[in-house]
Amino acid sequence: MTAKIFRNSMVVGLSVFLLSVALFMGVLYQYFGTQLTQELQSEAVLVARGVESMGMDYLENLNLSNRVTWVDTDGTVLYDNQADPATMENHGDRVEIQEAMWGSQGSAVRYSETLSEKTFYVACRLSDGSVIRMASAQYTIVVLLLSMAQPLLIILVVTLILAAVLANRLSKRMIKPILELDLEHPEECNTYDELAPFLTRIRRQNDTIKGQMNLLRQRQEEFAALTENMSEGFVLLDQRGHILSYNSGALRLLGAAIPAPEANVLALDRTDAFRHSVEQVLAGCRNQGRLDRSGRCVQILADPVFRDKDVVGAVLVLVDITEREQGEKMRREFTANVSHELKTPLTAISGMAEIMKNGMVKPEDVTGFASDIYKESQRLIALVEDIIHLSRLDEGEDDLKREPTDMLELAKKVAGRIDPLTKQAGVSLAVAGAPFIVQGISSVLEEMVYNLCDNAVKYNHAGGTVAVSVSPKGKGGVVEVTDTGIGIPIQDQQRVFERFYRVDKSHSKEIGGTGLGLSIVKHGAALHDAQVELESTPGQGTTVRLIFPEE
Ligand code: ADP
Repeated sequence: MTAKIFRNSMVVGLSVFLLSVALFMGVLYQYFGTQLTQELQSEAVLVARGVESMGMDYLENLNLSNRVTWVDTDGTVLYDNQADPATMENHGDRVEIQEAMWGSQGSAVRYSETLSEKTFYVACRLSDGSVIRMASAQYTIVVLLLSMAQPLLIILVVTLILAAVLANRLSKRMIKPILELDLEHPEECNTYDELAPFLTRIRRQNDTIKGQMNLLRQRQEEFAALTENMSEGFVLLDQRGHILSYNSGALRLLGAAIPAPEANVLALDRTDAFRHSVEQVLAGCRNQGRLDRSGRCVQILADPVFRDKDVVGAVLVLVDITEREQGEKMRREFTANVSHELKTPLTAISGMAEIMKNGMVKPEDVTGFASDIYKESQRLIALVEDIIHLSRLDEGEDDLKREPTDMLELAKKVAGRIDPLTKQAGVSLAVAGAPFIVQGISSVLEEMVYNLCDNAVKYNHAGGTVAVSVSPKGKGGVVEVTDTGIGIPIQDQQRVFERFYRVDKSHSKEIGGTGLGLSIVKHGAALHDAQVELESTPGQGTTVRLIFPEE
């Protein structure tokens, strides 16, 4: 813009200069012409007077720079100060001479053959009818200009330099306020009035842009809040595999550091599985992959993003499927264990029944066989009941009603139920303590305390004791079952809560254990937000504590 203003200023300046020179020269030329004619006229009158009084002598003594010609009435040249009159042709046809002869004065202007000169003629009639003519030549304006070419050129150069300097300063001064415009705050700009509509428009556009930016920021924040709160990882890529967006879940699941802006997605994970998934999705193939990262299992769901059938990017969703995998593994193991646990007593029952059917059992042994079949059936029933309990707990027991349950009363009820077993085992069981209320599912709570008492009796010695203590603590309380039994080795103390885990399998089976009792206790406790603590010394006894929260 500065250059344009500079150029235009130069053109205007130069044009004005040239036009002024031309006009000035024209006016000057005209003025000099008129001056010359007037001069000639005065001179002609003077010379005419001189000739009238002195005749030829006057002319011969005259010393004039202008040309003087004396023409007789018939047009014959009588005298000329610059040529021989004898050689001069008749001048009677000259316009100025004819005019003078008819009137008293005449004038004419004639150009030379080369048009380089023009001559002014003024004629004055004498009393005898002859005519005195004065002539003076003047260069034409073109010749004049050409003759002045050098000084004119110097003036032109000086003018050009002056115009350039002035145009430069002018253009800079004009542009300065425009360059200093603060387009962020157009309302504060104090500049040309002509820019006011432009600045108003900028202000409006700024307002619109600000509004849209705010909206965009708000959306981005919403999006970030949504994705940040996702437990899943999320990575958005462009078609070259550069990261456009990601959430912290993705970094957490991949165990990656914060990537550089627009880094390649492979910077997050360089394993073959991840690379394969990325390559596939950028080739337009939706795929699923699996990554094993330090004990955790991460599933990748990779979806390409298309625009007009071209892949323009991809979305990677990362899901932590460790729990799911473990759950499925546990279910598979549980199913296998259940089948095995069910098959063992059933095989025994079937085997014994077959022997009896074939009449291979002596009548006196029938009772023993029947009692074995009964025992195996009882184990089967206990097992099925425990499985039913566990699966109900696995389902969440949402359908079971929670109600205020007095734990002391519940412990006493369990003691009553277990009494035949204690007697059979020669173990004494005592309940002590003070009541406290648990807002819970009473059937589950009863099952939990029963299983603990059942174990305390089962894994006890004849003559041993079982103490059930119920103690309120704040709004919650503790139920503690202590026995003087065989105890649990330290390495087994955590594992006994696993399904079908038994310290001594054959002993547990022998005494009718299913391996599910403590699993049920653990599940039931979780359902009531209670903690389970186990302390045991092999050969001395075991204490299991159910700690119900205070609120
Ligand atoms: P089970 O039906 O076999 O008793 P549990 O899940 O109740 O199954 O217990 C798992 C294992 O923990 C038992 O097989 C037993 O070896 C051990 N156990 C549980 N309670 C006691 C206890 N009070 N004293 C000694 N060992 C116990």
